[in-house]
Amino acid sequence: RFFLEQPPIGDEVTFAEAESQHLAKVMRAQIGDVVVGFDGSGSEYQIELTSVGKKKVIGSVRQKEEVSREAARKLTLAVALPKGDRQRWLVEKGVELGVNRMIPLITERGVAQPVEKAIERLRRAVIEASKQCERNHLMTVEEGQTLDDVLAAKPTCALVLHPSGEPVNLEVVQKVDEVLALIGPEGGFSDAEVAKAAEAGCHVVSLGKRILRVETAALAIASLTTLSE
Ligand code: SAM
Repeated sequence: RFFLEQPPIGDEVTFAEAESQHLAKVMRAQIGDVVVGFDGSGSEYQIELTSVGKKKVIGSVRQKEEVSREAARKLTLAVALPKGDRQRWLVEKGVELGVNRMIPLITERGVAQPVEKAIERLRRAVIEASKQCERNHLMTVEEGQTLDDVLAAKPTCALVLHPSGEPVNLEVVQKVDEVLALIGPEGGFSDAEVAKAAEAGCHVVSLGKRILRVETAALAIASLTTLSE
């Protein structure tokens, strides 16, 4: 599976340099080979290669299909990102579990939020993970937002994850098409932040008696909310 930075123009597809190199050098693609392409908007293409250069591969679309492998509902994870490799791991697993949107959450006790370059790296990780798990819609990774910004969107079902909350009520979740889940930093949300989220209508929910790392909490709530029909 290969990512198309732009949808085909007419029937013709030109793969970007990184994907062309992957095709030509790693996969040793030949003229006439048929590969699958996706552009992140839901379309999946069968593409016959018509020209294979080391940095530029061109193909012709033989078939186009809309193939959705999206989850039962749209989940936005607003998460105080962990550091280093754990960030990339969280993004990769979020894509696999069908998370729709990830917002780096700026919190009182959070460490510095990713700069533009880091966000770009995470977006690249989204593409790599989507290739691997055959997802045709890209999970968006947004710029960092404060709690106030995120709460201003007033989603119908919002969950703030906090160890002293109530158990997650899956019946509530199963009734809605969209869920927002807020996950705090390693130091946790402050009492004021939890109170603010609750006032804004968020359910304060717990994932059990153990303290989970940020990425574990994020992926546990993602599994509960995206996989339950
Ligand atoms: N000492 C911090 C506290 O009490 O909040 C622990 C923070 S935990 C490492 C990081 C984030 O993961 C928390 O802010 C919360 O959003 C989520 N989290 C971790 N364990 C949780 C649990 N058992 N229930 C709900 N959320 C949890």
